[in-house]
Amino acid sequence: MFGLQRKKQVVKIRSLNETKKYGVAATSLKELLKKGSKLLQVPLVGSHISMYEDGTELTEDYFRSLPDNAELVLLAMDERWSGFVCDIGRLLDTDRNSDLLIDAAKGLLSNERSPKRRRLLGDLLLHLKDSSEAENREDDEDWFQGNKSSILGWIEILQETMWQPKERWRKTRTFLFFNLKQTVSLRLYRSIFGLSGIDDRFKTKSAYMKYNCESRIRGYMKEVHSYAQTIQKPKLKDEYKKTAECLVMQLKSDKYNGCYFNRKEKEQNRLCTQEGWFSCQGAFDHDECKSLHSINPYGNRESRILFSTWNLDHGIEKKRTVIPTLVEALQKHKSSNINLDYFYKLLFTRENLKLVHIVCHKKGAHDLLCDKRKIYKQGKRK
Ligand SMILES: [Zn+2]
Ligand SMILES: [Zn+2]
Repeated sequence: MFGLQRKKQVVKIRSLNETKKYGVAATSLKELLKKGSKLLQVPLVGSHISMYEDGTELTEDYFRSLPDNAELVLLAMDERWSGFVCDIGRLLDTDRNSDLLIDAAKGLLSNERSPKRRRLLGDLLLHLKDSSEAENREDDEDWFQGNKSSILGWIEILQETMWQPKERWRKTRTFLFFNLKQTVSLRLYRSIFGLSGIDDRFKTKSAYMKYNCESRIRGYMKEVHSYAQTIQKPKLKDEYKKTAECLVMQLKSDKYNGCYFNRKEKEQNRLCTQEGWFSCQGAFDHDECKSLHSINPYGNRESRILFSTWNLDHGIEKKRTVIPTLVEALQKHKSSNINLDYFYKLLFTRENLKLVHIVCHKKGAHDLLCDKRKIYKQGKRK
């Protein structure tokens, strides 16, 4: 029976919310799930296991090739673990000893060879560097600076998002960069990737963050405008354009809801704390973010730039649902009968927007519909 007998794997396992690790031996993933669920009191049905370090989901095959004492996280059905960064998120919330932590992380980083660990320590340091109490440009010039020194670092990020196979991209990278440099698009490219500093007209962090939010909301309005091109019937198109103009007027009077990102605003108007901390509100179909994602773009330049990967996600989707529903309503009724306030709220306000970390931004269809009772003004409903 030699060879058929499976070796016992010894692993260290913990649950999502407890940091205490337990040693467990098992011959299969199935057995490990069984033992782990019992030990950590996680419901067995739907439970799954991720690598502690990077969140990779454990499969039966992968299980057999685990090194001894691999660190794992046992998760209940709807829980997710995206790796060590989750713990950094928790460190972020504890302000104490941050100087000690910075020194410790720097020490580790200077001896660390593994690119992955270097990256993780870098992330840690990034989050600990906090000058969020400074508000004016003259008190934190660095925050307003561009990322000139690490253009290649940003190209690495570009590379991650590129559809090209890595090898090919690596070869074209240098070529592309020097060509970009000679074209006007470099300016655009630089501003998109945060390489050029913040415009001189912004004297405070809050003023810039307010503008940042406004720009996002303006972007949604642009999408509303451009949808007109897809409407064939001239009369309907006219009604749609009229409606869009009403939305713009409302947006202008609300100052494009820039208040959401402005920490100087009254509490009920902003999404952040007074210090500038934003917390992920969880995927559109979840009540909260179990990974405790949070970020303070006011804290340092890198966080400000990273904040651009956080999204205001429409629960009821703007392009797939809200705008087509508006057009459909206009087909049946005059624009004056449409409950525009409802559509305004869906398109541009917190009532239908959630601020989410990129991990909690689900790309698939949301399958949520507009509330039929709210589409038309009271009494005008069909
Ligand atoms: Zn999240
Ligand atoms: Zn989305």
